[in-house]
Amino acid sequence: MRLMEEMILRDGKLLPGGVLKVGSFLNQQIDPELLHAIGEEIARLFAGCGVTKILTIESSGIALASAAALAMRKPLVFAKKHRTSNVDGAVYSTVVHSFTHGMDYNVVVSRDYLTSNDCVLLVDDFLASGSALVGLVELAKLAGAQVAGAAVAIEKRFQGGGNALRAQGLRVESLALIERMDENGIVFGSL
Ligand code: 5GP
Repeated sequence: MRLMEEMILRDGKLLPGGVLKVGSFLNQQIDPELLHAIGEEIARLFAGCGVTKILTIESSGIALASAAALAMRKPLVFAKKHRTSNVDGAVYSTVVHSFTHGMDYNVVVSRDYLTSNDCVLLVDDFLASGSALVGLVELAKLAGAQVAGAAVAIEKRFQGGGNALRAQGLRVESLALIERMDENGIVFGSL
């Protein structure tokens, strides 16, 4: 997506550890034109795939997932993060390693909102090692739901998660695909 690549090049900031900061247009402050375009593009990519719900993890995936939910006219469900392993039987739960915080979280979703009648589309802001998407696939599996695929705003291909998930047969779409980023700049690729 051209608009996203332009904004990454103009306003993205490289942090140590392979982290890209996009707080001025995608995370903390969100550009409305970009958000609208993301929702429409995800809806276009997954039209006709039988998606019944959009599934993401709080908190940074929620804005993009709600843009996709609005464009697809399907409900958005977000998994909640808990630091303790104290979860009850009313939820599906799995463990996700946070790329940016370097710690493990329990992520849970109510059994009421994800069922074996669902076909979910996974949405997140970034794809790095793939742990967040693997966690969402696991929650869908626990619920007996199908997974239509995953859509992420930014994939950092050099961190390997996207290729590993595709090798397992998951359809993964990235709106901006970063092949590499370092002091020499950011290089985009395509699938
Ligand atoms: P993964 O689970 O694929 O390793 O990492 C994806 C998750 O970590 C996303 O939900 C996102 O919030 C966070 N993340 C990974 N890389 C970055 C990054 O470069 N910048 C930001 N802002 N978040 C990231």
